[in-house]
Amino acid sequence: MVVDERGHSRRQILKGAIGAAGLVLGAPVLRLTAAAAQGPSESTGILRLSDDLFVVRIPGESNVIAHTSADGVLLVDGASARASGALTKAISGLPAGGRVHTIFNTHWHPEVTGSNEQLGQAGKTIIAHENTRLWLTTDVTWPWNGDRFKRLPKIAQPNKTFYTTGALGSGIRYGYIPDAAHTDGDMYVYFAQQNVLAVGDAVSGQGWPVVDYVTGGWIGGIVGGLQRLQTLANEETRIVPGRGPVLGLKDLKSQYEMYGTIYDRLSQLLNKGRGPGEAVAAQPTKEFDAQMGNPDEFVRRAFESLWAYVSPDA
Ligand SMILES: [Zn+2]
Repeated sequence: MVVDERGHSRRQILKGAIGAAGLVLGAPVLRLTAAAAQGPSESTGILRLSDDLFVVRIPGESNVIAHTSADGVLLVDGASARASGALTKAISGLPAGGRVHTIFNTHWHPEVTGSNEQLGQAGKTIIAHENTRLWLTTDVTWPWNGDRFKRLPKIAQPNKTFYTTGALGSGIRYGYIPDAAHTDGDMYVYFAQQNVLAVGDAVSGQGWPVVDYVTGGWIGGIVGGLQRLQTLANEETRIVPGRGPVLGLKDLKSQYEMYGTIYDRLSQLLNKGRGPGEAVAAQPTKEFDAQMGNPDEFVRRAFESLWAYVSPDA
């Protein structure tokens, strides 16, 4: 699979934020802080969504959803490799927690696929969209900052892939989010009995999202994904994003409005022949910044992501 020459992801924002060379790539800022203080497992939090469904929160890591049953534990995402030990420990402490039998990868990024190798070696089921598997079979480079990600060993790659939708027992349904909000392999997992929708990084619950356009994500996909996911949720659905707190349908609606506005503005700037620096200077997120934080990285990436999809020069 070809990686294009314009790349970026969360990793690079974190690197910039850390501002120091030599740190392990992908080590999130919060995790470093926690590790320096107490050790990450000390402050791992468990949010109970129902008797058999939990969000495991390891500081600095993406949300991990754990579903327990007589068969063992099913996970949505698996944190980074550095945190897989802390995750295993947290899962073993869940009520009726046992061994993991299945994990979903909501996309290919290392911060959610770090338990794949351990689980693959143990013969467990790793489910992902086929595009996610393909990204994990190839080395990926983000030319922006030179970050390189080695392909996963075969045993760690998803061993059950799908293109559109699928289902498991216990009312678990899953499907592709083809809009490419975050990558071109985004997926959701819906727990019907608990009315919980896991959406990975296709929705950001915490600050501006990462637009990983090296592997297909784009600002139009964020808007499209938010629209699509609303059709899968109702007023009572609890929506668990990759980062941040649990959201509701109204959050998807307000995010849809916001990103739709930003998308329109960036598209207009592109059509006027403006560049990424000019897009940042135009402050297309102005009225949202007080709530969302400094938008410059996001705006630059979101603008650049348009090149791949709608550039008049393409
Ligand atoms: Zn991600």
